[in-house]
Amino acid sequence: MVSYDVLIVGAGHAGAQAALLLRQMKFEGSVGLLGDEKELPYERPPLSKEYMAGEKAFERILIRPANFWSERNVDMLLGKRVVKVDAQAHKVILSDDSEIGYGKLIWAAGGTPRMLSCPGSDCQRVFAVRRRDDVDAIMKILPDVEHVAVIGGGYIGLEAAAVLTKLGKKVTVLEALDRVLARVAGEPLSRFYEEDHRAHGVDLRTGAMVEALEGDNDNGNVTAVVLAGGERIPTDLVIVGIGIIPETAPLLAAGASGGNGVDVDAFCRTSLPDIYAVGDCAAHANKFAGGAQIRLESVQNANDQSKVAVSDIVGQPVEYDAVPWFWSNQYDLRLQTVGLSGGHDRVILRGDPAQRSFSVVYLKHGKVIALDCVNATKDYVQGRAHVLSGAALDQAQLANPAIPLKEVGLA
Ligand code: FAD
Repeated sequence: MVSYDVLIVGAGHAGAQAALLLRQMKFEGSVGLLGDEKELPYERPPLSKEYMAGEKAFERILIRPANFWSERNVDMLLGKRVVKVDAQAHKVILSDDSEIGYGKLIWAAGGTPRMLSCPGSDCQRVFAVRRRDDVDAIMKILPDVEHVAVIGGGYIGLEAAAVLTKLGKKVTVLEALDRVLARVAGEPLSRFYEEDHRAHGVDLRTGAMVEALEGDNDNGNVTAVVLAGGERIPTDLVIVGIGIIPETAPLLAAGASGGNGVDVDAFCRTSLPDIYAVGDCAAHANKFAGGAQIRLESVQNANDQSKVAVSDIVGQPVEYDAVPWFWSNQYDLRLQTVGLSGGHDRVILRGDPAQRSFSVVYLKHGKVIALDCVNATKDYVQGRAHVLSGAALDQAQLANPAIPLKEVGLA
């Protein structure tokens, strides 16, 4: 049986970062990076942005070129899927029944897109946007596509809607809740993006419950989305952006504690010996969420948790306490988010959305807990310090865009 001192399962953002950091932190043992996609690790954010738009070739979104990994002696085990973990025997079992042993295991398996389960959900031309394969398949049929229905008004759905609109498609966004981005942002931001998409010609509907998909009897291609109430929205392509299910089944079956994600401690250790979990699949107590056990789906979290796991492995433990940040690009709008806005009790608007440059500041008990900054990088950079400090600030000054955030005084 082949064995690695550190085996990393999942060759995405977190897995690649862990492999890279092991070598950067002078780990000299053997490292295997195993993933079920056939590509070298690549950046996922461009999939719904520049890559889908055809503005960036795949080679430009690789996290590192092939020679980087070979020069650092990281074994790339691509196109392989772990189906079972034997924590006692320190080995994983792959879908072809082969086995790989490990000294330490880093589980960085991300998540699988949640898909529809309504009648007709097995139609052809219904895609998620999670992997390169998804986007390549979408791009391949785009010349035949006039209408696109995007189901889900989260960041990925909205980014895809923006790209496809720019490519000349007639896009309908169907969001079941009463506003887009409801899970991650405050109402002013949701309303701004709704209006902006509509101004670009997107037919954006909220409170739109999808009841069924209809397909062509001959080729099975989707032809319409049917809403509760019976309205039929003709479409040639459906993009589903309704979240992910964390990839944790082998670990949970092996006895790891978890539910929505694998539970990890402040050092990204699971409850199983010598097994760490990082990235989208790891549920951790986050101080920016008031200590609640959460999963974060962001490049920041994937990178920072990998650093924590690797630091522990090389004997330099540090606790995870990174400030969450995220970005989203839609049309000419660059959103930068810092902190976590969940649980806010007050929202302050800084600047004028009509000028397409403004920030939404989220407060809880008078303290800044997060900012959503649209084309407002200065606010994002300066607001970060306020999120970190947890100080109560003068709210009138916070609302005044003429006062730089770094100059806002205490309440
Ligand atoms: P992933 O990158 O998903 O990697 C997990 C890998 O493990 C995958 O390759 C998967 O196939 C593989 N795998 C799963 N199970 C197994 C198994 N059993 N055996 C072997 N391999 C397995 N974040 C931002 O911060 N900003 C953005 O703008 C942004 N945009 C995004 C746009 C899109 C379209 C998507 C999909 C994500 C975006 N994200 C963004 C989120 C970010 O990409 C993720 O948070 C990040 O990729 C998580 O890294 P990860 O390593 O945990 O998971």
